[in-house]
Amino acid sequence: MNIHEYQGKEILRNNGVSVPNGKVAFTADEAVEAAKTLESSVYVVKAQIHAGGRGKAGGVKIAKSLDDVRTYADELLGKTLVTHQTGPEGKEVKRLLIEEGCDIKKEYYVGLVLDRATSQVVLMASEEGGTEIEEVAEQTPEKIFKEYIDPVVGLTGFQARRIAFNINIPKELVGKAAKFMLGLYQVYLEKDASIVEINPLVVTGDGNVMALDAKFNFDSNALYRHKDVLALRDLEEEDAKEIEASKYDLSYISLDGNIGCMVNGAGLAMATMDIVKHYGGDPANFLDVGGGATAEKVTEAFKIILSDENVKGIFVNIFGGIMKCDVIATGVVEAAKQIGLDVPLVVRLEGTNVDLGKEILNQSGLNIIAAESMADGAQKIVEQVG
Ligand code: ADP
Ligand code: MG
Repeated sequence: MNIHEYQGKEILRNNGVSVPNGKVAFTADEAVEAAKTLESSVYVVKAQIHAGGRGKAGGVKIAKSLDDVRTYADELLGKTLVTHQTGPEGKEVKRLLIEEGCDIKKEYYVGLVLDRATSQVVLMASEEGGTEIEEVAEQTPEKIFKEYIDPVVGLTGFQARRIAFNINIPKELVGKAAKFMLGLYQVYLEKDASIVEINPLVVTGDGNVMALDAKFNFDSNALYRHKDVLALRDLEEEDAKEIEASKYDLSYISLDGNIGCMVNGAGLAMATMDIVKHYGGDPANFLDVGGGATAEKVTEAFKIILSDENVKGIFVNIFGGIMKCDVIATGVVEAAKQIGLDVPLVVRLEGTNVDLGKEILNQSGLNIIAAESMADGAQKIVEQVG
């Protein structure tokens, strides 16, 4: 689960990690009121969306007066911001962070992420702040430094200072930078985050070290023990189809392609996406209906797939082990009846109650293309949408 920058900064502030003063605003009036409470003559008006790259896209404005704050707030609120992380459709700005302007001397990068290969949290930092870390990794990988954190010992003061030295934090500020990183790690750990990215971390003219941006991602499996974090969820930033799917406990992830996939089991769902790709198609989603799905759940899943305007065909690929083929067939027929099916449907069924499942589909009057195998099904659906 992601949260907004201002929420991330609030978490940092509450845990003693240095951030500029600032407040959230939902209207231009609130933006001006927020600016009045700040002890600064320069304000920064920042669009709050769940995506980075706002600076380059015009979502971060420097205001020199309260009038400027109002002008920029009016301009940004309601605007659809297109950044390299939003996709071409962009994201509508509904909230702003009004923040004290900061006298930046230099920008750095600091990130904490779980490294699955070593099963350790890794602290990454670079003196190439402000730019995308992916870009730095590609062009100047020697400028990225890493500290692997022993889960028992935690991040040590030595490691925090070493990385601060490595990224060339001015010597007199290494102590402050190390304190920052130790605090950041504590927050990462206590909140069960999976990513915390501070880009940029800055050194200021008056000798401070603080986070000018904050990106948090939390482990959804741990949210049950962080009600305070869960309360920060902004459903408007999430995919409507994914929210609908989570109500029915379906593992659904929306993708960019045009072939809707309904599959049982995460492994088979991944393999199905791979094979669709292999034959030149593009999956519109990942969907695992799970082992114990009822006909009702399958119906909802099918509706969610069909509510995606990009879907030009559907591939149902079910191996009935725990899940029974007749349940899937009933769900498909029910959903098609309820909302009408106007795209080609390729079905590959195998396993428990397969004959009954096929019979239900055959007698439904739906125009179904039967597939003999997974590969056959993938080829057929790719031909249909092609
Ligand atoms: P994004 O990563 O989405 O582009 P950032 O929060 O990193 O958004 O802001 C982009 C740039 O704007 C920063 O690299 C920094 O140069 C500038 N900036 C952001 N916040 C402030 C601030 N409070 N004071 C001065 N400059 C800022
Ligand atoms: Mg940033």
